[in-house]
Amino acid sequence: MTISAGARRQMDLLLASQPEAAPWLGALSTVLEEAAAPAWDAIAAATTLQMERSPGTPVLAGARIPVNARFADQWVRRLLVLAAEIGPEAIVLRVAVGDNAFDTLAFLEAAVNADGDRLEDVARSLNVDAEVLAAVAALAAMPLLQALRRRFGPAADPRWDEGYCAICGDWPHLAEQRGLERVRRLRCARCGGDWTQPGIRCPYCGVTGHEARAALVSEQDGEARKVETCFACRGYLKSVSTLRAWAGDEVPLADLATVDLDLVALERDFERPEPRRLEPPARLHGA
Ligand SMILES: [Zn+2]
Ligand SMILES: [Zn+2]
Repeated sequence: MTISAGARRQMDLLLASQPEAAPWLGALSTVLEEAAAPAWDAIAAATTLQMERSPGTPVLAGARIPVNARFADQWVRRLLVLAAEIGPEAIVLRVAVGDNAFDTLAFLEAAVNADGDRLEDVARSLNVDAEVLAAVAALAAMPLLQALRRRFGPAADPRWDEGYCAICGDWPHLAEQRGLERVRRLRCARCGGDWTQPGIRCPYCGVTGHEARAALVSEQDGEARKVETCFACRGYLKSVSTLRAWAGDEVPLADLATVDLDLVALERDFERPEPRRLEPPARLHGA
């Protein structure tokens, strides 16, 4: 595995158009290179899924994932060093790197499950800002989740039409309006998941009709880049026209490349819901 051609193109575009995103892009590029490493595919190959899943349950709910504790530790501490470089508010992460009491496997498990409560506990014990640690957690889980999506993507229910990711259970980060037919596909930046929700429906609260149809459009971008907003729950989702499907590792880059749309939405008092927890949680056990 290597980084996809699409992801490479996104990186070049981003660096040229938004040089201020360079520190984030540097960290994300390393994460995506790591995500292509065969070691993660080996973990995915040894992962067992929960046999019986009720409808609406993501593929990875209740999965048992064997992860070598030393391997997890090296990855998490390497990422912390990298993340500490991103900005002044992240410098505190350096202290966590040398903290021997830090249970990195438990952290990785909480990150995979988007378990906000456990991540807050970890942040408190490390004396790190919870939001900063949550951002690191999203990056930490990415290589494992991308490998699990490569392995188990085909196991997802083809009739899946929930608002959350069929693989990892998180909310979508972006919608694609794909191809000339503008087929609406929801995309997950964590695992690269790719699914459809027929019609226009708010992925977060499920409301349909005109309340979920409103969109913030800039004059310059028109329909090609917009923000879908929901007046029922005040959630928003960025929506971008694409000629072809984004590769799985391209989604987090597309998310970074559309930060301007997040700002537009936040200015109008819309917000993204908290990451959605995977239930029942996946278990990472030593291997
Ligand atoms: Zn996902
Ligand atoms: Zn809604």
